[in-house]
Amino acid sequence: MDTVALKSKLDTTTGIENLIKSYLKRHATPFMLIRRDVLERQYNRFRKHLPDVVPYYAIKAHPHPEIVKTFVNLGTSFDVASAAEMKQVLRLGASPSRIIFAHTIKAPDDILFAKKRRVRLMTFDNEPEIYKIAKYYPKAHVLLRIKVANIGSQVELSLKFGADHDQAYFLLRKARSLGLIPMGISFHVGSQSTNVENYLQALEISANIFEECKKNGLPLKIMDIGGGFPIQHFDSEIGVNFERMAIHITKQLRALFDRNVRFIAEPGRFLVGPAGILVTQVVGRAFRNNKNYYYLNDGIYADFSGMVFDHCKYEFKTLRRGQKFLSTLAGPTCDSFDTLSTTEEIPELYVGDVVYVKSIGAYSAASAVPNFNGFPPAKIILV
Ligand SMILES: *Cc1c(COP(=O)(O)O)cnc(C)c1O
Repeated sequence: MDTVALKSKLDTTTGIENLIKSYLKRHATPFMLIRRDVLERQYNRFRKHLPDVVPYYAIKAHPHPEIVKTFVNLGTSFDVASAAEMKQVLRLGASPSRIIFAHTIKAPDDILFAKKRRVRLMTFDNEPEIYKIAKYYPKAHVLLRIKVANIGSQVELSLKFGADHDQAYFLLRKARSLGLIPMGISFHVGSQSTNVENYLQALEISANIFEECKKNGLPLKIMDIGGGFPIQHFDSEIGVNFERMAIHITKQLRALFDRNVRFIAEPGRFLVGPAGILVTQVVGRAFRNNKNYYYLNDGIYADFSGMVFDHCKYEFKTLRRGQKFLSTLAGPTCDSFDTLSTTEEIPELYVGDVVYVKSIGAYSAASAVPNFNGFPPAKIILV
């Protein structure tokens, strides 16, 4: 296959469908194609439009080794939430100084592992956690995660985590008094945040904390703006404009913080989501409730798990063209819950026909239950 020629046309429907067809010849479905060129493009977009911010890829979005390796080669840093994720990125060549242990509630053994492997930068959001970190990893570098507005975000990430900002100085001073090195502030505006105000407000609150700490002899050096950067899931979707958000964020960073402050971020979805194309096939069809039901060989329990955990909706596409009918798409397991959509307008499909979804690289395979009911998850293929 001439991959260069294929890729040059890849942003058209024909290009994507030709790529899918070429892989169908040699691979059984379900499979998920992950485009390396898109991983690289997203990384470059991030660097270009947020030039002051160093991205730490949040590997929970998709921890596949080949994806992590691609980012290691691009020089990306990494956000991990457990010892296992840390092990994964270290094994694949990330340097410990390029890793943030961005979980505010860490198991003691995981903190010990971070110490052993010299992953020094971590987050916290409460007082007991400071005592724990100080006990297992004296002199660890810590960022305080504060609670910020998640208005309009697809996934709320401030319900379970984040300190109140009026506690910030107290907590950072406490960290220092226990022998830790307070480095700065972090926040997460919620995943798929199309509302730039969330970032702008969170930065304003953070800048006030920086100011308060500086006045009291506790200068901070790192501002971590978290993840949440949105992607387009539907072809016709409007309102997702990373470039425009980035302009506002950059302006805010430059206006509110001293020149010596380092900015980092933890993008997950943005870096990997657009790279994934999930390819499934119809394994059966039935006529019920006055419409066609098509049963696919991948479902809610596996690579469409994002419909539950990530509250994500997807655009289902078919290789077959023709008059469209209101139809239901379901996954393969015996559970009725494993229904993907009851209101799809799609052409009439036959056993063996392909249904595919673009921009499904993040929070899909990563949260799949492998082999529930004996149905295998999609094979991941980097292309
Ligand atoms: C999930 C998560 C991320 C990644 O979020 P995206 O919305 O995918 O960018 C970053 N940081 C933390 C702490 C997270 O929990």
